[in-house]
Amino acid sequence: MLYNRLGKTGKTVSKLCFGTLTMGPFQRDLSVPEGAALFERAFGHGVNFLDTAEIYETYPHVREAVRMKPDVVVCTKSYSYDAATAEASFRKAVEGIGREYIDVFLLHEQESAHTIRGHREAIEYFLKKKEEGLIGAVGLSTHYVRCMEAAIRHPEFDVLFPLINKKGVGIADGTPDDMLSVIRRAHELDMGIIAMKPLGGGHLIEEREEALDYVLGLDCIDTVAIGMQSLDEVDYNCARFSGEVPDPELSERLGRVRRRMLIQEWCQGCGTCVSACRNHAITMVDGIARIDYTKCATCGYCARACPEFNIKVI
Ligand code: SF4
Ligand code: SF4
Repeated sequence: MLYNRLGKTGKTVSKLCFGTLTMGPFQRDLSVPEGAALFERAFGHGVNFLDTAEIYETYPHVREAVRMKPDVVVCTKSYSYDAATAEASFRKAVEGIGREYIDVFLLHEQESAHTIRGHREAIEYFLKKKEEGLIGAVGLSTHYVRCMEAAIRHPEFDVLFPLINKKGVGIADGTPDDMLSVIRRAHELDMGIIAMKPLGGGHLIEEREEALDYVLGLDCIDTVAIGMQSLDEVDYNCARFSGEVPDPELSERLGRVRRRMLIQEWCQGCGTCVSACRNHAITMVDGIARIDYTKCATCGYCARACPEFNIKVI
């Protein structure tokens, strides 16, 4: 396994960060023991870094991972915006994960300088927890170039978690080169960089080799978060992030896996999923929700929001 220093946090993390969204209820909905089997395999390959978020509902899985590997580095994220919501998120994380200390606590999916300003109280709360030694590092995650531009003007941020992949799938306001340019500047400022969605939320699965070559070739990225939900995916990614060539049969099996969201025909047309989708991938057509697959990042947030349990990952 390759390792890097996560910027000024000083923590050494595996270049492969185990993303847990995919094992949670929005996607594969693995039980805690099923998730633990994947963690065990990944830890065996040298992974020492996990990514979760309050919205993923995978704290029970991460709690088990922490029990199995007490020194694992954990990053979580929340949408908290003021002191009260930040306090609630912090409590939920420490109680859910079963640790008094959270290594990396980020504001989830920020969009601009304006939204950073709007979350100032939550940032102050997390920085106070950092001073108290209860949080190791503070920062944000984003799909926006303009938000990265704003974030690098905040020296109090230790870690940034931008979306980057070779085709720019999911970058809300620019090209891969635009995003890369600001990632490089953040890296020069010694901010830790966790890259998200190297496979474009599933859109680049058919180009998996090239898509991973792209992020692995970027020395301004410290670690890459990839959601994994099978032992095959763990074995494949761990091989790639250890500089090894994966077993061709394994690559071939993974090449056959396709994933996408499906809105079932009994949609009631309530529109709740439209506002839940931050990628603006859902519209109402003739009273029925429809997904634009060119915009969908397969995050599963719409499935969670649907009161009819009408949206599935298939
Ligand atoms: S439609 Fe939107 S919310 Fe639903 S999975 Fe796709 S990107 Fe996520
Ligand atoms: S939230 Fe569910 S029922 Fe409502 S429009 Fe979306 S898919 Fe249909």
